[in-house]
Amino acid sequence: MNTFDMGMNRRNFMKTAAMAAGAIGLSGLGVGAMRAGAAEPEPESPIYLALNMSKVANNEESFQLMHKVGPRVCITTATHPGFVGFQANIQTGILPLAGRFGGGKVHMEKELNPLRNYQYTMWKRWQDHDEFHQQQFKRVFELCGGCLSMVIEGPWEPVYRVVKAKMPPVRSMGQITDLGKDMQEKKPFIRFVTPQRCVAIAEHTVRPGSEKAFEEGAIATMEALSDSTGFLGYMLLKQMGVCALGSFMMDPKSMGQSLETLGANPPDDPKPLFKTPEANPSPPEYLIHSEWDAAELAQLGFAKVLVNTGIRKIHDDGVMAHLIRGPYIMFFQPMMEEPGWRAKLS
Ligand code: FE
Repeated sequence: MNTFDMGMNRRNFMKTAAMAAGAIGLSGLGVGAMRAGAAEPEPESPIYLALNMSKVANNEESFQLMHKVGPRVCITTATHPGFVGFQANIQTGILPLAGRFGGGKVHMEKELNPLRNYQYTMWKRWQDHDEFHQQQFKRVFELCGGCLSMVIEGPWEPVYRVVKAKMPPVRSMGQITDLGKDMQEKKPFIRFVTPQRCVAIAEHTVRPGSEKAFEEGAIATMEALSDSTGFLGYMLLKQMGVCALGSFMMDPKSMGQSLETLGANPPDDPKPLFKTPEANPSPPEYLIHSEWDAAELAQLGFAKVLVNTGIRKIHDDGVMAHLIRGPYIMFFQPMMEEPGWRAKLS
C-alpha cells in the first residue's frame, strides 16, 4: 500500500473510530468528584474530557472495520445533551529522549503494532458523559461490540478536568483573515491551527502532595515552550476518575451476557462496576496535551527542556522534581474533530 492509501485509510479509520471512544459507558451520578482517598472535591472545570484509550491491531481489516462503525458512534454520541465536541486521534510515533526510548521514532505509522487509538469526547459536565453511556448503552454496545475483534488492549476511559488551557480554533487557509480579527481584538495567543497538525500527549504521574507545585511548574514549562516554532497550544489535564461503562467494566452478570452475543443482544440490566470519581487515581495522573505544526517541530520544541538553559531549569524544578513516573510523550494525528469545545476554554 502506498503512503497516500495509508493516509486515507487512517483518516477513514478515525471517522469510524471517532467516537467509539466515547462509546460504552455510564456511571456514578454523584455530585462532586470526590477523590477516592481524600475528602477534597476536585475543582470545577469549564469542560470535562473523557479519553477512551485502546490499542488496536495495525492492519487493513481494523481500518475497514472502524470505517464502517465509527460514523455511527459519532452521531450517537453527538446527540446527547452536554456533548461539546470530540477529537479522534491515532498514534503516529513517540518522542525518543536522547537515548531513552531510543527504540522509538517520531514516525512509526507502519511499524507500531498495536497502535494507540485515543479518542477524546468533551462534555459540559462529567456526569453528562456517564449518562450518555447509560442511556445509549444498547446502541453503543452493538456498535462497539462489532469492533472488539481489533482491540488488543482496552478500552479504558479516564475522565479529566482542565487545569489550564490555551487552545486556539482550528482553521483552514480560507479563514486566514480571522487571524486579523484576533489581532484587532488583541488576543494574547494567536495561532493558525491546521487540520493536519500533530497532537503530543505527555503522561506524568505526580507525587501525592506535590500537585500544586507540579501544576505551576507544568504551566510555566508550557508557557516557556509557547514561543517554539510550530507550537499551537496546550492543555494541562488532571484525571478525576474513570468511566466504568466506557471502559467496558460492568457487573459480572452483564459481563458474562455481553460475551454471549455478537452485539445484537445487550445485557439485560447493565450496571457500571464503579462510580467515575471512585477511580480517581492516587498517585495523581496528569496529561499534557499539546498541538504542533508537525511532529518534527514538536521534537525540536520539547528538546528545549534539555538544551535551553532557562527552560531546563523551569522544567527540572517545576516538573521533574515532583514526578513518580514520566514524562513519556506520544505523537498522534487527529483524524476527525468537532472543535466547538475549544471556544469554551478561551
Ligand atoms: Fe465515552
